[in-house]
Amino acid sequence: MLELRPNCELCDKDLPPDSTEACICTYECTFCASCVETVLRNVCPNCGGDFVSRPIRPTVARRPGVSLAHDPASTRRVHAKYSREEIEAFAAGVADIPSEKR
Ligand SMILES: [Zn+2]
Ligand SMILES: [Zn+2]
Repeated sequence: MLELRPNCELCDKDLPPDSTEACICTYECTFCASCVETVLRNVCPNCGGDFVSRPIRPTVARRPGVSLAHDPASTRRVHAKYSREEIEAFAAGVADIPSEKR
């Protein structure tokens, strides 16, 4: 199941489960749309992959046992293990490669 992480791993902005600004890579690395656009250049600094908008888990159980209340968001804040300079340099080397060729 997708881990709904509570913050942007770069700027630490809160990204609650109903945020429309949360972006994820295939490894569930989570960043805000602003960081993805301006700093990361759509390159995940942890895996080099691209991002999509994080889907929003429904708050209403429209099927039995399936909702945000049954499977709540993570509360464990995650922080990038690279400096902003390292991240920008990494993005510069990868951003121009189409995601399907990374
Ligand atoms: Zn951010
Ligand atoms: Zn990643």
